[in-house]
Amino acid sequence: MNPWKRLLEVQAVDTNLTQLDHRLAQLPARAELSGVEDQLAALRAEVASVEADKHVLDKDQARLEDEIASVEDKIASADRQLYSGSSDVKELQALQDEIAALRRRISGLEDQELELMEQVEPLDQQLAVLAERQGALDQQAVALTAAIAEAEADIDRERAEVLARRDVLVADIDPAAVQEYETARARLGGVAVARLEHGSCRACHMKLSAVENDRILHLSPDEPVRCEDCDRFLVRD
Ligand SMILES: [Zn+2]
Repeated sequence: MNPWKRLLEVQAVDTNLTQLDHRLAQLPARAELSGVEDQLAALRAEVASVEADKHVLDKDQARLEDEIASVEDKIASADRQLYSGSSDVKELQALQDEIAALRRRISGLEDQELELMEQVEPLDQQLAVLAERQGALDQQAVALTAAIAEAEADIDRERAEVLARRDVLVADIDPAAVQEYETARARLGGVAVARLEHGSCRACHMKLSAVENDRILHLSPDEPVRCEDCDRFLVRD
């Protein structure tokens, strides 16, 4: 028997497998996930930039707080001297002046700190908004990853069924013909065999010449025939 009739069925199964591969590669959720990942990357860059700005302000604030603490130490020390029981009026006056100057210094530093805190506040708000957006995108990414895994499992199941069907078909065909089919398929863009209908090749849609048609009519049905134009094997009824 002409193996190409059976190989036409194998071909249908192989086309099905190619479609499954294509579906697997082109899962819409995969493109969506890639979009979400791009958004997350942009968001992380934005967070890093805002955090860098905030870090500078935080360092300035820490420096101011250190300075305030050190001035407060000086006030405490001057206070102790003031109440140490000295009766030197000049010395006491000098200490009081020093304390007043130090307090003015603290007040200036505290104003600066307040200004810094006012600058930090919008950055914190910005970070909170970004964190919220990141949380939503993370959730989306998790859902899409699960959807992809599910779709992949579905396709794997279908592929296993199709492959089993192919094994059954191929088991009945001469291995040399299967090898010839595989070689032709690799050479001819995945389609090695086509039906000959009303004198035309169903793969490339070219009409066979009258001479070729006549030749085929006189061949034994077991004799393989190829399309004059695309070189594919032709299956005739
Ligand atoms: Zn053809």
